[in-house]
Amino acid sequence: MPRVRGCTRRAAETVIASGRTARSRSVRLEPGTASHTGRIRSSNQDSVGLVDGLYVVADGMGGHRGGEVASAEAVAAVLAVFDRPDRAGLVAAVRSANRTILEMTVTRPDLSGMGTTLCALAVVNSASGDEVLAVANIGDSRVYRLAAGELVQVSDDHSLVADLMRAGELSAEEAAQHPQRNILTRALGIEADPVIDSWELEPALGDRYLLCSDGLFNELDDARLAEVLAAGSVQEAADRLVGEAVENGGHDNVTVLVVEVVAGPEAREGRRSAVPVARSERSTHSRGAADQARIEFGTALAMVFCLVATVVLVAGLYARQGWFIGSDDGDVAVFRGRPSGLLWFDPTFVEGGDLRLTGLDGPTRIAVDETIVVESLDEARRLIEGFRAAVEASPDDQA
Ligand code: MN
Repeated sequence: MPRVRGCTRRAAETVIASGRTARSRSVRLEPGTASHTGRIRSSNQDSVGLVDGLYVVADGMGGHRGGEVASAEAVAAVLAVFDRPDRAGLVAAVRSANRTILEMTVTRPDLSGMGTTLCALAVVNSASGDEVLAVANIGDSRVYRLAAGELVQVSDDHSLVADLMRAGELSAEEAAQHPQRNILTRALGIEADPVIDSWELEPALGDRYLLCSDGLFNELDDARLAEVLAAGSVQEAADRLVGEAVENGGHDNVTVLVVEVVAGPEAREGRRSAVPVARSERSTHSRGAADQARIEFGTALAMVFCLVATVVLVAGLYARQGWFIGSDDGDVAVFRGRPSGLLWFDPTFVEGGDLRLTGLDGPTRIAVDETIVVESLDEARRLIEGFRAAVEASPDDQA
């Protein structure tokens, strides 16, 4: 039964599977969820789904209808397939959702190119038989944990800016403002055997988990996320988070799923230190040689694509860095960028137009014609002032 919250909102479809017998568990979670199309987009391509003990958020992309279909189908597939209550079982369900999306793109040309992020949280059993929480993620939707007032991002983003941040090329502030921050390096519906990250976390009474699409954290900083997430019931927190994201701009669809551990063990001393390291893995089941070759080719292609995309981005940052003085159609001018240009990042004109090259003395004219690389705009201006002073000191040289 689809559940739609609020009457003025166009909520993402909430899938609630039913008719399955619940396992007897001592860990219980209480969910609250909200979604909004935002102020810019015309449709909501996020999806959210839940059953008792399994919670999923997906952010679809591609095509006219593709994004909506991809996220909804992926969420529905995870809910339908998850039947093995351990971490590997959750990863297998996400993998199954990937096959569903890929099959649809093959049989329905109108949906080709669709894909989706997906993050999920489930109550599962650890290898030692304890009840734990499993988290799985692919793409740039996020899972956060709020424990004892401390907000931690459990999942890692699979995006170009996240890669650049991990490589030390971008600060968190630069990444948050980056125009290409929505470029993903991993998603469902792209390759046959995607790498899916997963974690096991100890549940503790009172902990809250937040699953959300990027429409939330691109509008609210971590401090505000933590504040709103902590206050009121889980449903109130979900409604307020979405409300604030829309108020702050609503540039994208925004979807949140808040769950609180309402029954389970008390937090142990020293448990809080850190979130465990992710296990990132491909499928381990055996495949035929042809299948294997095809998948490896696909993976290699995806890796080459990622590498090229990263190189292009880094080159773009590098190419934009310098300053130089050169000729702009016979005028002395200042440019931003590298004299030769780099790939297709052409230098950009900054200022100039009031000093002709033909007025300069021979060596200066040649130097400017061949471009003079400088450290800053100020240095460029100082040099040009020098050229101007020289021209004014020897008016006879002017042609
Ligand atoms: Mn989004």
